[in-house]
Amino acid sequence: MNSAIRLSRNERGEQRRIDVSFEFFPPKDESMEKILWESIERLAPLSPNFVSVTYGAGGTTRERTHATVKRILAETPLTPAAHLTCVAAARGEVDEIVRNYHGAGVRHIVALRGDPADGAGERYAPHPGGYQNGADLVAGIKRISSDFEVSVSAYPEKHPDSPTVDADIDMLKAKLDAGAGRAITQFFFENDLYFRYLDRVRARGIDIPIVPGILPVQNFKAATNFAARAGASVPAWLAERFHGLDNDPATRKLIAAAVAAEQVLDLVDRGVTQFHFYTMNRADLVYAICHLLGLRPAVEQAA
Ligand code: FAD
Repeated sequence: MNSAIRLSRNERGEQRRIDVSFEFFPPKDESMEKILWESIERLAPLSPNFVSVTYGAGGTTRERTHATVKRILAETPLTPAAHLTCVAAARGEVDEIVRNYHGAGVRHIVALRGDPADGAGERYAPHPGGYQNGADLVAGIKRISSDFEVSVSAYPEKHPDSPTVDADIDMLKAKLDAGAGRAITQFFFENDLYFRYLDRVRARGIDIPIVPGILPVQNFKAATNFAARAGASVPAWLAERFHGLDNDPATRKLIAAAVAAEQVLDLVDRGVTQFHFYTMNRADLVYAICHLLGLRPAVEQAA
C-alpha cells in the first residue's frame, strides 16, 4: 500500500507530519463483526501507525481479541497492537498469551493492569500469582521478548485509584523504566488538562510520547457514563452543546464532528502531532477528523 499523505498545517502555517492510531473493540456477534470490518476497511487507507484491539474486563473477550488481532494481521496491511490486562490472571496464563502473540507475528502490546474483577470503582487486588500492576506487566512482556513494542495508559485527570497526580505519574515512570515506549491517554475534553499533565510528566523526566486519546462523542449519554467510570470530567459546555438533541441523531453527529475537530485542531496548533482515536468501531467521524488533520487515503494520492 502507498503511504497516505499526512501533513497538517498549524495556525502558524507550519506543516507537520501527523501520526494516528485507531482503537477498536472485539465484536460480540456477527452484525457487530460486520460493522467492525467495514470500519477497519474505511480507515485502513489512512495508513495508521497501528490499530489496537481492546481486551474485555478481566479477559472476558480473550478469544475475540485474539481472533480480531490475528485477522488484522492476516487480511490487512495494518499493524495490530493487542491490548492485554493482568487482572484476575496468573502470570503463566498471561505469559502464554504473550508468547502466543509473538508466535503469530504480533509485536505491539498495549499493557494494562485492568479494572478490578468486581468492576471499576471496587478495590483492586492483584491475582496472588499474577502481575501486580501495569509496570510489572510491562516488565514481564519485555522479559518474554525485547522486540515487543509496549504502549501503556496515562491519565491526565489521574486514575481514580491514585491518591494524587504525583502517585499516578510515579506509576507512569515505573512503566517507562520497565520498557514502555509510548503512553496513550485516557480521553479528555479540555486540552488544558492534557498540557498541564504533560508539563508535570516532562518535569518528572518522562520522555516517551504521551499520545492524546481522542473520543469522538458519538453518543453523549454513553460518553458520560464511560467518563464517570474512567475518572474523566465532562465539562458543562460539552453537555450544553448536546442538550436537546437526544432525538436528533443527524444534528448530534454534526455537533460531534465539530467538537472533535475543534479539539484536535487546537492540539495541532499547540504542537501535538500524534493522535489515538477511540473509534467505538465506527469510522465516519474519525475519518472526517483525520481528513481535517490533513490525512488522505493512499489510493487518492496515487490517482
Ligand atoms: P496502572 O498503570 O497499573 O495503574 C493505574 C493507576 O492506579 C496508577 O497510576 C497507580 O497510581 C494507581 N494504582 C494502581 N494500583 C493501585 C493500588 N493497588 N492502590 C492504589 N493505587 C493504585 N481496560 C481493559 O480492561 N481492557 C482494555 O483493553 C483497556 N484499554 C485501555 C487503553 C487505554 C489507552 C487506557 C487509558 C485504559 C484502558 N483500559 C482498559 C482501562 C484500564 O484497564 C483501567 O483504567 C485500569 O483500572 C488501570 O489499568 P492501568 O494499566 O492504567 O493501571
